[in-house]
Amino acid sequence: MERQRKGVSVVLIPSPLQGHIAPILGLADILYSNGFSIIIGHTLFNSPNPSAYPHFSFLPFSDQLTESEASTSDPLHLTNLINIRCALPLTRSLSQLLSDPSLDPIVCFISDAALHFTRSVCDSLRLPRLVLRTGGASSFLVFSLFPLLRQRGYLPIQECRGEEAVVELPPLKVKDLPRMESKDPEALYEFACRMSDELKSSSGVIWNTFEELEISALERLRHELGIPSYPIGPFHKHPTLASHSSSALRSPDESCIPWLDTREPNSVLYVSLGSIAAVSEREVVEMAWGLANSRQPFLWVLRPRSESEWLQPLPEGFMESVGGRGHVVRWAPQTQVLSHPAVGAFWTHNGWNSTLESICEGVPMICMPCFADQKVNAKYVSDVWKVGVQLPGEVERGEVEKAIARIMVEDEGKFTRERALELKHKASLCLQQHGSSRRSLDALISHILSYNN
Ligand code: UDP
Repeated sequence: MERQRKGVSVVLIPSPLQGHIAPILGLADILYSNGFSIIIGHTLFNSPNPSAYPHFSFLPFSDQLTESEASTSDPLHLTNLINIRCALPLTRSLSQLLSDPSLDPIVCFISDAALHFTRSVCDSLRLPRLVLRTGGASSFLVFSLFPLLRQRGYLPIQECRGEEAVVELPPLKVKDLPRMESKDPEALYEFACRMSDELKSSSGVIWNTFEELEISALERLRHELGIPSYPIGPFHKHPTLASHSSSALRSPDESCIPWLDTREPNSVLYVSLGSIAAVSEREVVEMAWGLANSRQPFLWVLRPRSESEWLQPLPEGFMESVGGRGHVVRWAPQTQVLSHPAVGAFWTHNGWNSTLESICEGVPMICMPCFADQKVNAKYVSDVWKVGVQLPGEVERGEVEKAIARIMVEDEGKFTRERALELKHKASLCLQQHGSSRRSLDALISHILSYNN
C-alpha cells in the first residue's frame, strides 16, 4: 500500500445502502486529502466500486447474507442481519490487516452509526472507534430520546394523536416521529436504542451536517452524548475532497443534463424519492397526473421494480399528455441535476443526503417523507428552515398540483427560494477557511492523530 504523508491509516466501514455509502466515501476522501491512508472495509453485498477510488485500499468481508436476504427492500432488517452476522468475519479480516507490517499503522476505525456491531469488534482488537452518523443531527436526537418518548406515551405512534405536539422536541408533532414499515413493530425502537447506546460508547461522533444548520440539536446532543462531536459537512461540497468519484451503485442516465440545458432557468421540478422508498402503483398514478396537470416541466426519477416493467405503472396517456415537458429516467446524476440552473424545485422523500444536497444548491423542496428519519427532516425543511412545503397525507393529484403551484408559480415560492439561497450561502461559508466545518475537521484530524502518539 502506498505510504501517505501522515504515515497512518484509518479504516472506514459503510453500511451497504446508497445513502450511507456516499457520505462515508466522501468522508474517506476528505481524510485522504488530509494525508491519511484509507482502507474501506465492506460487505460483499452492494460493495463499492474500487476502480472509482484507486487511492483507497479495500477490505471485503463476508456478510453471510443469502440471496434473498441481500436486498434493500427492508433496510432495517438488512442492517439487523449485518449487525448479527458480521462481527466474526470483520474481526478476522481486520486482525490480519493489523498484523501486516507492510501497512501504515491503523490508528482508528470509523464506523457507520447503524453498524453498532463494530463496537465489539473494535473492543476486541483494542482499536479506537469513531462513529459517522450519515443522517442529520436533529433526527438522531429524536432516536436518542426514544426511551423518553416511550415513557411519555408518544411511542408507539397512535395515528389518532398525530396532531399532538411533542413538547420535548419542538416543533415536532407525533405524526413527524420516525416510523418504519416492518414485520416486527418493535424493530425500529430496538435498533434506535442500540444505535444510540453504542454511539455513546464510541470515542467521538462525526456528522454530515454543519453547525449553522442544526445548532440546537448539535448542542443538545453534545450534552446528551458526552463524547467529542465533529460536524464537518456537507461532505460532498468539501473543498478538500481528494476526488469527485461517484459512489453510485447504479449508472446515471446522462441524458438528464442535455435535456435540462434546453429548459428555462428555475423552470423544472426534479422528482426523486432516493434509492429505497417504494411507492405503490396508486401513488405513481397520482404523482403522474399531479405532474401532468401542473403544466410545469419535470425530470422524474422512476426507479424500476424490474427492468421489463419500468414504465408500466405510469397511467395510459400520461407520456403523450406531457410530451417533451417531462423527462423520465431510471437514475439521475442527482448532485449535477440539483446544481443545474434550470432546476427550480425538488420533490423529495427527504432522505438526509437529498435534503442536504438540495440545501447546498439553494433548491426549494416539496416534501414527501416516507420512512425512518425522513419525516423529521421534512418537518425541519418546512417549519424550521422554511425552505419547502409538505404534501399533506396521502398522495393525491389535486394536492400535488397545489404544492407545485405554491413552490414554482406563486409568491410563496419566491420567498422560499430566497430563504433557500440564504441557507446555500451559509452552507458554503461553513466550508471556507475559518468556517465552522473546517474548524471541526481540524479538530477531528488532531483527534485521530492523537492515537498515533
Ligand atoms: N441519488 C442519485 N440519483 C438518483 C437518486 C438518488 O444520485 O436518481 C443519490 C442522491 O444524490 C443521494 C442518494 O442517492 O446522495 C440518496 O440518499 P438519501 O439519503 O437522499 O436517500 P435514501 O436513498 O437513503 O433513501
